[in-house]
Amino acid sequence: MTTAAETHRDVFGSAPAGVWSAPGRVNLIGEHTDYNGGLALPIALPQRTVAAASTRDDDLLRVHSVAAGETLEVDLGSVGAGSPEGWGAYVAGVLWALREDGFAVRGMDVTVTSEVPLGAGLSSSAALECAVGAAASDLFDLGLLGSDDARGRLARACVRAENEVAGAATGGMDQSAALLCRTGSALLLDCRDGSTEQVPFDLAAAGLVLLVTDTRASHSLNDGQYEARRRACEAAAEELGVGSLREVAPDGLDAALARLSSDELRRRTRHVVTEIARVRSTVEALRAGDLDEVGRLFTASHASLRDDYEVSCAELDAAVEAAEGAGALGARMTGGGFGGSSIALVPEGSAADAEAAVRAAFGARGWTEPACFTVTASGPAARDT
Ligand code: ADP
Ligand code: MG
Repeated sequence: MTTAAETHRDVFGSAPAGVWSAPGRVNLIGEHTDYNGGLALPIALPQRTVAAASTRDDDLLRVHSVAAGETLEVDLGSVGAGSPEGWGAYVAGVLWALREDGFAVRGMDVTVTSEVPLGAGLSSSAALECAVGAAASDLFDLGLLGSDDARGRLARACVRAENEVAGAATGGMDQSAALLCRTGSALLLDCRDGSTEQVPFDLAAAGLVLLVTDTRASHSLNDGQYEARRRACEAAAEELGVGSLREVAPDGLDAALARLSSDELRRRTRHVVTEIARVRSTVEALRAGDLDEVGRLFTASHASLRDDYEVSCAELDAAVEAAEGAGALGARMTGGGFGGSSIALVPEGSAADAEAAVRAAFGARGWTEPACFTVTASGPAARDT
């Protein structure tokens, strides 16, 4: 396979100054909680997005993506809300956000390759932003990879790129995962205060694997559904007189639900509050080595996302049911939903059966073949060469 550095040489005519990469992620549990000031628990994937890059001494960004099959040229002075359109927003937006944060950033030549499937709910968008952000940090001496605090600041710039330039109203989980996850650990992310904690996540020691299914069902976070969920949560918080649904304690949930004005707001709120509680329970179960309980929590999370939050779809439900029928301890959709990917916690010896069951379920319904693979908790954005 041609490397990003080789392609860079072909496209731009000279070797890159360096190569950086950032991982995709799967969220173990804690879905649609980030924008509610809640808790999430992602791991970084072994699949990464690679950015070969060089600086320029003008304000031009030239970026080539092998996946997109095109080279874009963007004047950094023209970057803002909705400009540029398309995938260039995820790249130009990061440089724009770093400038907004007061950093001296100039133009760059960038070549992007990716092992993270695009639009599969595995966060190719944040992997792209964070690979480019890591390159900019090193090339312009910004020091944003040196500590978790600095990485958090870079993550916030990448979030601004996605929210304000690409126009996707996502929370902060994906960028934090790409910059702060560590090999062998899940990242407990508190989206209210931005604090993080590493939680040991070693399935092999328990004889288990994490099976990811990319359903290949179409998924788009900027089609309005995601924003509608966000707005419902904000409306519920306002009716309850709290800053965010994080403020609703699990033992105050019934009283809170009784005060809400519609069944829709009650179901959205119930998902968020119970999901945050499930993240806490999952962390406790992981620390206690109780993987059966983790599986049960996955399954409860899926039911809540399907029934109360209504962000699942037929393909995700089928993947979850098939894996559970073939011996998974638990399974759930992961990511924003409406397509994308699911995860299943499976005994090593049942992994092949679980994958076969998922494939058979899709085949029987005439759906596009899913992609199935197992993943381990991997490392964060870094310089490669
Ligand atoms: P996810 O982050 O789950 O993969 P998103 O809809 O958030 O899904 O982001 C997918 C979008 O990110 C793509 O449609 C494309 O615009 C952009 N993107 C991600 N990776 C790349 C890449 N390697 N090359 C070009 N664009 C990319
Ligand atoms: Mg994304």
